[in-house]
Amino acid sequence: MLQEPISQFMNRKVLHGEPDTPLHEVVRRMDVSAQSAFVVCEKGTPVGVITERDVVATLSQVFQGVDHRDTCAADVMASPVHTLPETASMGEVVRIMKERGFRRVPIVDDESRLSGIVNIGELQNATNAALESRGRDLEATVEARTAELRAANARLEGLSRQDGLTGLGNRRAMEERLGEIHGMACRYGNPYALILIDIDHFKLFNDSQGHLAGDEVIRSVSAALREAVRAVDSVYRYGGEEFLILLPETDGHGAALVTERVRAAVAGRALRHPASPTAPHVTVSLGYTEVPTPEAARQLSWEDVVRRADEALYGAKQRGRNRGCAWSDNE
Ligand code: GH3
Ligand code: MG
Ligand code: MG
Repeated sequence: MLQEPISQFMNRKVLHGEPDTPLHEVVRRMDVSAQSAFVVCEKGTPVGVITERDVVATLSQVFQGVDHRDTCAADVMASPVHTLPETASMGEVVRIMKERGFRRVPIVDDESRLSGIVNIGELQNATNAALESRGRDLEATVEARTAELRAANARLEGLSRQDGLTGLGNRRAMEERLGEIHGMACRYGNPYALILIDIDHFKLFNDSQGHLAGDEVIRSVSAALREAVRAVDSVYRYGGEEFLILLPETDGHGAALVTERVRAAVAGRALRHPASPTAPHVTVSLGYTEVPTPEAARQLSWEDVVRRADEALYGAKQRGRNRGCAWSDNE
């Protein structure tokens, strides 16, 4: 804005007249136009200026008995008048006016003819408004950047709770959720159950089919798990070929049903696993445990609950794999 020519900001409706304009006519026109300056021009070129101050000085003389009825513009105008070209920049004009203490300056075209007038107060208001609007733009930019950063952080946060291969929640997400559910069980007695799942003879699968095919199996098993549980249950990738399912508001009987449904869902995918001594397809072993009462919850940490499910899973492996075991079965 400060670089733009002053012609964009000047007032073009400038009050002006010839040097022989009667003073009473000048004052009348200043009055009706509500302008604070009258530019005196000869053939269009400014030669002087009459301001409100000059009018006040003349009026003071009138009260002292001086007769101004025949006074004309040329008699009272301040002259010579400093003008600035239309092509001067807004910044230059403001600088010159401040340096020289000008309150207003007539602007002239390239033939030195009056084309407008600027007033320091108006110019300052315009620059202030521009600065304010630039400030607002900056604030808006900062706000937008902050929002972008927040969104990026949220995405990162989500990613750090999500397993890259399967899209399931990762161990960290599991620990957070399990901590919450366990806390609810302690405080309000909401029962829950937990299933730990491990793919059988997965090392043999990798060794015979390759690691990439192994990754595909992990993805397929995770999809089977997700499909086999209800929306309120959550499935996590617990480790390499191990998964964990949290079943809120579920007792041991319910957990047994889900365990069998999950086992059957994986086996039902019939993913070929010729190297497995258990079955010609990919199978899983499962261990589950329940936290049925607030008393039970309070006696355990959530880590203890996972340990119980792991012990149950070990039992399922011992008993031949491709099956589920309850923690109580181990006692
Ligand atoms: P078990 O029936 O006793 O569970 O036998 P297992 O071979 O499945 O058990 P083990 O713990 O010996 O081997 C687990 C294998 O899982 C070894 C490891 O390389 C593989 N594994 C772990 N994570 C991944 C993965 O992300 N991708 C692939 N392809 N393999 C993985
Ligand atoms: Mg394992
Ligand atoms: Mg395994």
